[in-house]
Amino acid sequence: MSTIAAISTPNTPGGIAVIRISGENALDVAEKIFIPAGGKNVSEMKGYTCAYGCAYDEKERLDDCILTIFRAPHSYTGEDTAEISCHGGLYVTKRILRAALKNGAVNAQSGEFTKRAFLNGKIDLTQAEAVMDIISAKGEKELRIAENLREGATYKKVKGISDDLMNMLGSLAAWTDYPDEDIPEVEPGYLLANLEAVRVRLESLIKNYDSGRLLRSGISTVIVGRPNVGKSTLFNCLSGCERSIVTDIAGTTRDAVEETVKLGDITLRLIDTAGIRQTFDKIEKIGVSIAEQAISSAELVIAVFDGNKDISEDDINIINKINLINSIAVINKSDLETIIDRGILEKYFKHIVYLSAKENNGIDKLKEEIEDIFMLNEKFFQDATVANERQKKCIDVCIDNVNKAIHAIENGEMLDAVNVLIDYAEQSLLELTGEKITDAIVNEVFSRFCVGK
Ligand code: GDP
Repeated sequence: MSTIAAISTPNTPGGIAVIRISGENALDVAEKIFIPAGGKNVSEMKGYTCAYGCAYDEKERLDDCILTIFRAPHSYTGEDTAEISCHGGLYVTKRILRAALKNGAVNAQSGEFTKRAFLNGKIDLTQAEAVMDIISAKGEKELRIAENLREGATYKKVKGISDDLMNMLGSLAAWTDYPDEDIPEVEPGYLLANLEAVRVRLESLIKNYDSGRLLRSGISTVIVGRPNVGKSTLFNCLSGCERSIVTDIAGTTRDAVEETVKLGDITLRLIDTAGIRQTFDKIEKIGVSIAEQAISSAELVIAVFDGNKDISEDDINIINKINLINSIAVINKSDLETIIDRGILEKYFKHIVYLSAKENNGIDKLKEEIEDIFMLNEKFFQDATVANERQKKCIDVCIDNVNKAIHAIENGEMLDAVNVLIDYAEQSLLELTGEKITDAIVNEVFSRFCVGK
């Protein structure tokens, strides 16, 4: 494999930048462009040691640097690796990279260092994907999921299931391949019990998938309610700025306004909608219809009610338009006297929060309820889960084949047919961990990485 080089730090000025060189000739390249101040010989440096010195482009002195050496296989990529830390200026960093390229290295492709770690057996494919998740994590929860994945929690679970399928395949092969030997026929009951157990474990791996996905992509959320209950005030309170028009004249918010807001670690893709009510105003009518569309496609609905007023017919009309599964009733204006009949709301909503949008009170409770709805609680982090659509697809294919194998046994089909289905199930798990995978999929996974990682 060629020796690759790239700038591993962001493409922006900073305190320090790192140029990473990896491959068979990494140390030769480093030796040609870096001279240690203390007279050390780069090619004789041990792994995990550093040298202070200077980077050069031929005779031109470029910068004072630190060179760190990693010896194969004890490096990130599993290959000999040299990392040059220089001052974090864009020009000087690019010059050092250019010097490395002049002296035998080639430009690394996106994610190529991690791809090599995978190809050299340092990590499985789920752990490689976790590296990118760590880099793109926007909060503690996302980071914890990515860390679990990187530590191999998902890999270990998948490997355990894969080993069980292998055992079944082994028993079936022994019986079908050596018909003359006195090997007892595989009991369908044994296969059924094992396949059922495998299915339960597979289902537990994908049960939290949607929660993780929503944590990464944000939850599309609409705030609904009749005019003047405080939707815009709540929207502004969540987004921390005055984006919607807040007035006490009913019907002033006419189009859907979108904003991404962070509520702790949760990202809400908030859509503020026109107050829904019976209206004869043409423009307001358009706003109302936008609101109705937003409600039907939202992943979370926050239905706002004025706690200082009785529930009206308009409130009930709105409740009837919402998918109540992922919805929260917010009883707003809790700073005023509470008049609203909570009992009526309890008939419709499992999650009810008292809040004063005007005084920014009760937002923490709203956050807790959202975490509860999407199961983003402690339990979520204890369970290994699949992290992306690729992994989810592999588990789906596996479950599908396990189900087919179960039906085949129940219908008394030949064990040869069952064998094929279990084999398909096994193959999809090997694809998930990357043990058996096409180059196209590997390239696709790593193309999403940044250069230098
Ligand atoms: P929308 O039509 O539902 O978007 O309602 P607005 O956000 O425009 O608010 C309507 C009126 O209610 C404004 O005068 C707000 O200041 C007031 N309001 C909103 N939230 C609260 C609250 O929590 N407490 C009190 N006392 N007034 C509020």
